[in-house]
Amino acid sequence: TRFEDAGLHPVMLENIKLCGYKVPTPIQAYVLPSVFKDIDIIGIAQTGSGKTAAFLIPTISKLMGKAKQLAAPRARAGQPYSPEDAVRAEPLILIVVPTRELATQIFDEARRLCYRSMLRPCVAYGGGPSREQMDELRKGCDVLIATPGRLMDFMQRGHLLSLSRVKYTIIDEADEMVSPDWVDDMKQIMGGDSNDDDDHVYMMFSATFPKEARAVAKEYMSSQHIRI
Ligand code: AMP
Repeated sequence: TRFEDAGLHPVMLENIKLCGYKVPTPIQAYVLPSVFKDIDIIGIAQTGSGKTAAFLIPTISKLMGKAKQLAAPRARAGQPYSPEDAVRAEPLILIVVPTRELATQIFDEARRLCYRSMLRPCVAYGGGPSREQMDELRKGCDVLIATPGRLMDFMQRGHLLSLSRVKYTIIDEADEMVSPDWVDDMKQIMGGDSNDDDDHVYMMFSATFPKEARAVAKEYMSSQHIRI
């Protein structure tokens, strides 16, 4: 498989080049075509396998094709941001991860892959003040990378964030996410508003797949495709 043959948006192909990626890694070669069929995916892959790009490239690329209709309301381009421009963040891609480090890493890659598109990534994680993250969300957000605690906190502030438009829900390091500390938040996030839609796509990535993760997958995901 080549990136050029994967049906990606031209802007995405440019951004892949800017990232220096020449050929898809095995997990990318597996996920790229699956996403275009809108099927749920379970990816069993280690860190270092290129799994971040495996879920970011095809999902962001699909939104690029629809950026005009889909891009979240946002502060007016080219104008200094003022509080009156604040919008409610309505991301289309939601990526849930267990740690701040992973969230930051995925956010950096998402920023590179959204370059020169109308799409706006944001990040939300705990362990520090939320002010800056909230200000960013209020400017508009199409791709949200979040840890569960901060995500729940932001969701409860009614006018800040809505998950009703999410089309892709991606759970990274799913084995950690289903630990007893997180599993209730996880279920609430996966069972949210828009998730009854037939065209809602779930992806779970993990190095291992303990039975708790399989149970969550079974409950929320339809056409599972398991890659080992
Ligand atoms: P990850 O498994 O997502 O943590 O990615 C591991 C590293 O591989 C990251 O530094 C990526 O920038 C890099 N990477 C991802 N995809 C490719 C690719 N197709 N070719 C070369 N490097 C890549």
